[in-house]
Amino acid sequence: MPRNESKKSTCYFDKIKLFHINGHGAGLNSIPIRRCVQVLFLIIALFLGIKFYMFTGQLSSGAAVHIARPAGVEAFLPISALVSLKYFLLTGIINKIHPAGLIIFIMILSTAVVFKKVFCAWICPFGLLSDYLEKLHLHIFGKKINLPQWVDFPLRGIKYIIAGFFLWSVFFAMPAVDLKQFIQSPYNTFADIKMLEFFTNISAVSFIVITILILMSVIISHFWCRYLCPYGALLGITGIFSPGKIHRDDEKCLKCGKCEKVCPGLIPIMEKKKINSLECSACLRCVDACPEKNVIKFSFFPGNTPVSQKKIALVLIVFFTLGITASKLSGHWQNNVPVKAYRQYILNSRMQSNMPVRISRKEMKHMIEMMQKMQRMQK
Ligand code: SF4
Ligand code: SF4
Repeated sequence: MPRNESKKSTCYFDKIKLFHINGHGAGLNSIPIRRCVQVLFLIIALFLGIKFYMFTGQLSSGAAVHIARPAGVEAFLPISALVSLKYFLLTGIINKIHPAGLIIFIMILSTAVVFKKVFCAWICPFGLLSDYLEKLHLHIFGKKINLPQWVDFPLRGIKYIIAGFFLWSVFFAMPAVDLKQFIQSPYNTFADIKMLEFFTNISAVSFIVITILILMSVIISHFWCRYLCPYGALLGITGIFSPGKIHRDDEKCLKCGKCEKVCPGLIPIMEKKKINSLECSACLRCVDACPEKNVIKFSFFPGNTPVSQKKIALVLIVFFTLGITASKLSGHWQNNVPVKAYRQYILNSRMQSNMPVRISRKEMKHMIEMMQKMQRMQK
């Protein structure tokens, strides 16, 4: 029987076969191109993290700065990007504090408009981790254990409530006049350093919470992505506008159920001809698992040519490369925060080593004054 073209592709990282399990549906173990793209973006994320760590290390040691701050770390500041997006929509200005964060955020939202929440299955490092935690789940339990629908359905609502809260806070509760003030506040300006410190000086509570989330993702497949991630929820909602969908040919379908078995979104694929679900991440596991060619496919219209893993991979890589290059060339990538402002912040932060997690109003005021003083000195 003809197999799909994606089956023939190979990737070094899938040859490793971490927690490889036989007999759980081809789709879990035969996703080579997607896996390569996930690993590529993971390497980029690690590279950015290490470079940023080295950048801050130079500042705290008082050494000269040879390693520049990688602007791409702003990808990890989604709340800041949401505020920047509102500011951009109202003023047409890409702010100079975290311009790369806004560009990356817009690019990620754009991918959802075309390929649903493709970011979750192809780019997000936690999506990759969740895939491997799912393999561990299968290794431990021998089969996929899902929550009953009456528990699953309300739990799925949590991530939409969290995403709705952030959207409401930024787009409705935050007055337009406060946007610029927030963007230029020390809290937002140094949010990347605070994020780094969160992981490098992780508190016992944060460590326990992260460990619980990882354990829950072993017990319940894709726990974080399915129930809690507001970013995924936002992309799922944005993906409503996507013309790209999974289409199933009901007449040729064998009703074998292999597609449903591997679907991380637990979507009842066999009940539908067209998948409109907010949970579809265009992972193409269902396509890969199907024993029939072109019975189930990702396409823009039912009769259209299938969009293969290769095409999605190529579009994502070319799109992000061009988008980032255009931002760099147009001067909308690097921020304008002087290195000495970062140094000052880090040194202050180290001096106050017993600084509480939430910055008090007094400290905020002091930092704002410090920033203003530095800005005046620059002029
Ligand atoms: S329907 Fe297919 S492409 Fe969508 S999430 Fe499920 S397995 Fe992935
Ligand atoms: S779409 Fe393919 S995998 Fe799904 S039930 Fe039909 S034949 Fe089986």
